[in-house]
Amino acid sequence: MSQNLTANRPTFVTHLECSMTGERYEADRLHGLSRVGRPLLVRYDLAAAGAALSRDALMARPTDLWRWRELLPVRHTRDVVSLGEIETPLVPIPNSGGGGHVLVKDEGRLPTGSFKARGLVMAVAMARELGVTRIAMPTNGNAGAALAAYASRVGIETIVFCPEDTPEVNVREIAMQGARVWRVNGLIDDCGAIVGKGAAEGRWFDFSTLKEPYRIEGKKTMGLELAAQLGWELPDAIFYPTGGGTGLIGMWKAFDELEALGWIGSKRPRMYAVQASGCAPIVRAFEAGEEHAERWEDAETVAAGIRVPRAVGDFLILRAVRASGGKALGVGDPAILKAVDDCARRDGLLLCPEGGATLAAYREALRTGEVDAEERVVLFNCATGLKYPMPPAPRTLDRHAPIDFDSL
Ligand SMILES: *Cc1c(COP(=O)(O)O)cnc(C)c1O
Repeated sequence: MSQNLTANRPTFVTHLECSMTGERYEADRLHGLSRVGRPLLVRYDLAAAGAALSRDALMARPTDLWRWRELLPVRHTRDVVSLGEIETPLVPIPNSGGGGHVLVKDEGRLPTGSFKARGLVMAVAMARELGVTRIAMPTNGNAGAALAAYASRVGIETIVFCPEDTPEVNVREIAMQGARVWRVNGLIDDCGAIVGKGAAEGRWFDFSTLKEPYRIEGKKTMGLELAAQLGWELPDAIFYPTGGGTGLIGMWKAFDELEALGWIGSKRPRMYAVQASGCAPIVRAFEAGEEHAERWEDAETVAAGIRVPRAVGDFLILRAVRASGGKALGVGDPAILKAVDDCARRDGLLLCPEGGATLAAYREALRTGEVDAEERVVLFNCATGLKYPMPPAPRTLDRHAPIDFDSL
């Protein structure tokens, strides 16, 4: 265990706050959504956190997620759970990046192979701290896998519901990591309705995206980490594959907290929320100038992680995108698959389809002049490409027959 897990560093949480109305909620109590049905945000005494932790002291720690302990909600060191949440690398893609100054933050290196580990490690640690014994969740795959892994590790029972066409590997991974997993004939929000019903009956705690307050805090570490990795100078633009939007909302919050600490200035990246054009509720709302996004009917895309027809944090995503001067962008499945293929063949980096969506959107943004090739841009590859179907490689060789070496 790294030293910063065992050191006792208290949290600086003061309270929670409704993201819509600003109403205050007490810390150290179990909360779901606010009274008006919107996400709760965790607030800290940042002056005290800044007095307890300097940038230099932070940089002297091991680089994993728990180095940010003072800016995270877990109160007791004994409640921290870990499977090795490393700092993920920023990988240049000089050949497939369209000639731009672009880096891929490769989140596929995290435990359970996706950035869902960041959110769920925090949410599970807090569930443990607050005495939760049974959790249910709707998932397109990766969140369920991360929940199963961390919850099993600390002895919390989990029941997971996924759309019936969720990739086989994800369903099996969830089962293998100790959850009871059910395939449901519907989409993720249909699964969410089942979770909500059981929660209302007191059967379990509802771990749907943004329906508990701590996943955002875990996902926020992407923004904290990025700032530290880039020498406290944020990039010009971030392309984020947006489903529930937890990561985009979390990073935006992280930047404000870092500025309040005096660790970064007021410069912000333009935030681009990338969606698949077969499921683009945020893009539609952005373009229509709406504050909320209506449900997207008949959602369909190869990028299952962003096949989210309705997001409870829609207004938070839209606000951050607009405040940053960014946009919400839709890309088609053919462009997504082409981007994945190019990046693997030409740069040796196997993206997941959702990561491919960010590359496709970035290349399109370069083409239209939305982004300048000189600008420093970060794309999020949110899961390992190894979890997704790959094109067949059918060539065989008979070692007993004469081999035409020129043709190999
Ligand atoms: C969950 C997920 C997303 C979307 O993340 P949000 O922060 O919920 O918008 C994107 N890609 C993959 C692979 C995912 O698992």
